[in-house]
Amino acid sequence: MTATYLLVLTCILQILSYADSGFVSFEEARNAVIQAEDLLITGGRIHLNDKEDRANDIFMRYKMDELGAGFYDSDVNAASLHFFKGKKLVEKSKVLKFLKRMPKGAILHLHNTASVSSEWMVRNISYMPGMLRCTNIFGVSILSFRRTARDHGCVTQYVRVSDERVRSVNPAAYDRSFEKLINLYTPTPEIDYPTIKHVWNKFQNMFSTINDVLRYLPAFRAYTWRMLEEMYEDNVMYAEVRMDFKELYDYSGRLFSPERSLREVLSIVEDFRRAHPNFMGIKAIFSTHRNVERTRVFENFEMFKSLHKDNPNFVIGFDLVGQEDRGKPLHNFVAELAELPRSAKFFFHAGETNWYGASTDFNLLDALLLNTTRIGHGFALMKHPLLWNAVKKRNVAIEVSPLSNQILHLVADLRNHPGSFYISQDLPMVICNDDPGFWGTKGLSYDFYYAIMSLAPNHMGLKTLKGLVWNSIRFSVLTAREREYAFATLERAWDQFISDVLQGIV
Ligand SMILES: [Zn+2]
Repeated sequence: MTATYLLVLTCILQILSYADSGFVSFEEARNAVIQAEDLLITGGRIHLNDKEDRANDIFMRYKMDELGAGFYDSDVNAASLHFFKGKKLVEKSKVLKFLKRMPKGAILHLHNTASVSSEWMVRNISYMPGMLRCTNIFGVSILSFRRTARDHGCVTQYVRVSDERVRSVNPAAYDRSFEKLINLYTPTPEIDYPTIKHVWNKFQNMFSTINDVLRYLPAFRAYTWRMLEEMYEDNVMYAEVRMDFKELYDYSGRLFSPERSLREVLSIVEDFRRAHPNFMGIKAIFSTHRNVERTRVFENFEMFKSLHKDNPNFVIGFDLVGQEDRGKPLHNFVAELAELPRSAKFFFHAGETNWYGASTDFNLLDALLLNTTRIGHGFALMKHPLLWNAVKKRNVAIEVSPLSNQILHLVADLRNHPGSFYISQDLPMVICNDDPGFWGTKGLSYDFYYAIMSLAPNHMGLKTLKGLVWNSIRFSVLTAREREYAFATLERAWDQFISDVLQGIV
């Protein structure tokens, strides 16, 4: 039993015996428990230096002003609203402005094909010459730069996006409706997405809409560069990105192997690092959809083995993605997963569900039995005391993505997100953004906004933020040397940030 637990226990015992003992005042006992609980919280034992203390005072003024207004008027309580309802409030928030400038370390859960803002996609990719659009049997728009309609399930002719735009009455309005193909935003989520089924259908359809666009070599290059740029602009220094390495094509129909697609990513990252020396680059978590035919999953296992063997420090591990409640559970793949090379790490999505005791909920157990390095989402973890104790003992970080969990219908008010429990217990956790491009955010700042405003207690500020940022490097799979460099770079960026806050630059 740790000293902290003993302290809490002592305090509680003091309260229980308070009436009889008379040794401590009621207020003393009360304050002791509050202080002891604060020590248990993520970042609670971090010591802030004088400058950080003063920066924290500034941050807490911003935070308490917003929460104070929200306490008296729930209409302006962005921390409790659906993001689409509170977006305007969040975007003018001083807390968000502060968080955007704050160095945030690493993103450890992000899907590359939903990583770039839809706004940039419209302004850039949709204006690339040759983009085509058709509609599949479900009425979903499919975008591409090649005429292979049947492969995409298209039941209509292809039309050129540029022709549609020119023919439209208002090109700006055309662009706004185009953006809706790849962004879940609606001012009325409760009407457009009344159940989890509605939102997940639209969400999965958006991946189908842009899948072939991102296999077009010029679009792939521009998109990958922009993904890095949106991280960098949000003061993120490194990421472990879930991606597949599909065959690419060019305007002449030439095809490029998955190995070539991997080399393209490496070369873009290298060029980006040359232009932005403080950015450490990315590593890849090879991901395959859990809901395709078993043979395809097994083909992807083979592909992963080959790419990992040739690039063990870049293709670091494996994950199965897609809606857990409607896909195959991990249990179906135990034998095959156990045969992957020992050098490959697992980063399983698990417990991204509201079900308790269903097969998807057991993904958490299976992920831990398979020795997963981290857990994607882990939303259902709180219901399993043995599992969250194991997570704590084994330092298996939970990749918490608040906005994703709200938008994809797991929780309405983020103050009820289980991340509050994880913070209260200082469970190993990191803040992630999952699919920011699909809900119109950039980088990690928006998820950090909800982490500190909705998940963390009102009175916690810079200590918890710093704890979460440092966790992102601590729970990454950087090598020992890379990690040392990452912490040194982060320390420098953090000190500069604190000075900027004190000088009023933030
Ligand atoms: Zn995910």
